[in-house]
Amino acid sequence: MERDIRNNPGLLKLELYCRGAHIDDSLRVKDEGGRPILRTRAGLGSGLEVILPDNMWTNIPVVEPFVRHSPYVVRRREDGSVWVDEGREPIAEVKLAPRPGWYDRKTSTGKLMTAVGTLQGTYLGVYPAKVCEYWTERDRTNCKFCSVGLNLGADDADDKKVAEVVEVAAAARDESDITYVDFNTGHYEGETYLDILEPYIRAVKQATGVMIGVQTPPHSDLSRYDRLKKLGVNRVSFCFEIYDPEIFVETCPGKAERYGLKRYLDAVEYNARLGKSAGLSFDPWVSNGEIIAGIEPPDSSIRAIQWITGVGAIPTVCVFRPLCGTDYEKVPPPRTEEMVPVFAAQYEACMRAGLPIAVAPNVNVSLVMLPWESRWLVSKGVRRRFALGEAKMAAMRRLFRRHLYGQLHRADAARRTAGPIQAATA
Ligand code: SF4
Repeated sequence: MERDIRNNPGLLKLELYCRGAHIDDSLRVKDEGGRPILRTRAGLGSGLEVILPDNMWTNIPVVEPFVRHSPYVVRRREDGSVWVDEGREPIAEVKLAPRPGWYDRKTSTGKLMTAVGTLQGTYLGVYPAKVCEYWTERDRTNCKFCSVGLNLGADDADDKKVAEVVEVAAAARDESDITYVDFNTGHYEGETYLDILEPYIRAVKQATGVMIGVQTPPHSDLSRYDRLKKLGVNRVSFCFEIYDPEIFVETCPGKAERYGLKRYLDAVEYNARLGKSAGLSFDPWVSNGEIIAGIEPPDSSIRAIQWITGVGAIPTVCVFRPLCGTDYEKVPPPRTEEMVPVFAAQYEACMRAGLPIAVAPNVNVSLVMLPWESRWLVSKGVRRRFALGEAKMAAMRRLFRRHLYGQLHRADAARRTAGPIQAATA
């Protein structure tokens, strides 16, 4: 593996997650067309959205206290270019993730569009319902790394109507060329999360044709996922966060009490089987198991990755970020060296299992290191071993891209004729 971060954007992305960066006075993010630093990041991030070399999108911690010790600075040169420097030493020229025009607009109901949905990298993230109930119980049982309950009312609107979400998704489709919308909820008593999401899913799919992802707690009736698949959902994701059973209970007391780790794992496995039974299709279905690396020991995260890929699901791995105001705000972030083997295992396990990583077009994710991006963290020998697999993946990517854009352009044309809301109800 290339160990010089100047020549390895994957390692740079990881290093910046772990250490953060200062924003130099020369850089006025909003004035330069960058995205504001919002806290509405599904409770996991809050930083500066930047595009690193190799078109690697990231979200750099800039406000948390641990950033004080970072040697990295994001600054603007006199020629207008933006760089990550280590002190005064240039590391990499980067771009600010562009702030779309719709970020400054309101919906027809008068809500700021960014309070309805925000771009996370190049996809639209929507948290449509009220705050996760772990935050509102008398004895709070929220996950200790999470900031969702601190965010709402600040950057995010509470009650989002289906028509508002469709309007924002249509704007993001037209102006930001999104291909994917991710719906996310927390925990609600009575397992209402899928009932809440279904009208949004149906309307956004109908109006835009984009791929749809759903991230909620695991429903006890697994046949609900068959139904989601029929509705046009393409990805379901289950955030069990921690694979070590004791650390899971300690970190996620609400999840442990209401669902338990096993129920999360069963849902990941069920949905991976559902994908396999569908075979190769232009209407993809993937199951994701989502973990946070840096709270439990790296070996445990690697075991989680091996379990997830072993059942045919794709691991999504976030790097723990001690967000301001959370229960874990004083816990130090992990060190880059500890994280490298975790992400190397992510790439290797996905490739060994022949999982479809990096097939969906224009889905660049700023808050996590994608399995495909983790290829930067393995040895040349490992890359050589999977050269054929990578070539197959590239061919699938081209084929799928052609198909998906055909579908999107047809939906765009219909929506422009009918208007977003009419298109959603047609
Ligand atoms: S389930 Fe946990 S991580 Fe998700 S919103 Fe609720 S407290 Fe936050």
